[in-house]
Amino acid sequence: MEKIRKLPTKPKIKDFFYIIPMGEDKIQFRTVGTIRILKGKAVSTLIPNLLPELNGQNTISEVILRLKSFDENTVLSAIRLMNERGLLEDASISPPSGFSPQELERYQNQFKFFCHFHPDKFAWQKLLKEKRVVIFGLEEIGCALLMNLSSLGIGKITAIGLQTENEIIDERDLGTFFFEEDINKEKTIVAREKIREINPNIQVDVIRKDIKSSKDIVPLIERCDLVILCNDAINIPLCRLVNEACLEKKVQWINSSIEGTEALIGPLILPYETACYTCYELRRKGNEKYFEEYMAFEKYLIDNPNSNIQYGSLKFFGNLVATIVAQIVVKLFTNIGSADYGKLFIVNMLTPKIEVEEVLKLPICPTCSRAKPRPKLWLEME
Ligand SMILES: [Zn+2]
Repeated sequence: MEKIRKLPTKPKIKDFFYIIPMGEDKIQFRTVGTIRILKGKAVSTLIPNLLPELNGQNTISEVILRLKSFDENTVLSAIRLMNERGLLEDASISPPSGFSPQELERYQNQFKFFCHFHPDKFAWQKLLKEKRVVIFGLEEIGCALLMNLSSLGIGKITAIGLQTENEIIDERDLGTFFFEEDINKEKTIVAREKIREINPNIQVDVIRKDIKSSKDIVPLIERCDLVILCNDAINIPLCRLVNEACLEKKVQWINSSIEGTEALIGPLILPYETACYTCYELRRKGNEKYFEEYMAFEKYLIDNPNSNIQYGSLKFFGNLVATIVAQIVVKLFTNIGSADYGKLFIVNMLTPKIEVEEVLKLPICPTCSRAKPRPKLWLEME
């Protein structure tokens, strides 16, 4: 009985498997990346009778009862073998109570996807629903990401339009999120309405905020699980302010920006544990070929924080960047793979190729290092 308890209460063949008979004594269960083979005499005797019973409606005892023309131990062994091979899920696991019937319909494909990696197909969707994400920037990357994370089912999203961005929708904004009829309307209002149409089951707030210091950011990121900065152009001053605020509140964050024909996504920052934005900046500057010119450029950006000089971009590029960011978010909030802390993804639009660089934490970072400064030594000369 002990072993039976470890089996699914109501066994069901996972429905992403193709079931392909291969002659009298061989049957193939196949999905992308996985092939399971059952072999032997039972393939033509027991298995054709057993498979229809593994539909999630019956307990194992009921399956055994319904197949009473077969030996009980043989049926049990077959179910156990199929369970060990990862062919079965437990249909008795009920969806979490917080999900409406509409959500259960909506996320069906995601449940099926998560089922490849977790015995409870609802568990990760529930985790996503419990998260709160704050997005800064409502241009191409920001709007596409807002759509991605809403459809994904992140429970609470605050999206913030910035002072460097246009407040009223114009022709430049049109594409996959804003359309002709939205022109001359306020971006935040239209975005909020659209997200409510895309997914009415999540809480979304879209606001506009002038960010002048990290103090403007801190109240916005309280009790937040992740901050995402979406820069369609280089915006070093804003990156620094977000870094400062996120370190203060110990909120993890990630930057995404388009720099010419490249997009830079990352590093994903876990405050005081992995490289912060200052660590990244100092390392980047250390590798800068034209250092003096870069420093002059940086000074210009700091002196002109509202400059929003764009290189120009193709419409799909923001969507591509937002898709990669959404993938990083899913990995972070579930255990689908290891979180991408410290990784910088460099996406080349021309090739298209993604390079990944590790950004290491600087032991003496002026922003995130906890090491105390060394005492100054005073030498007295006689
Ligand atoms: Zn640092």
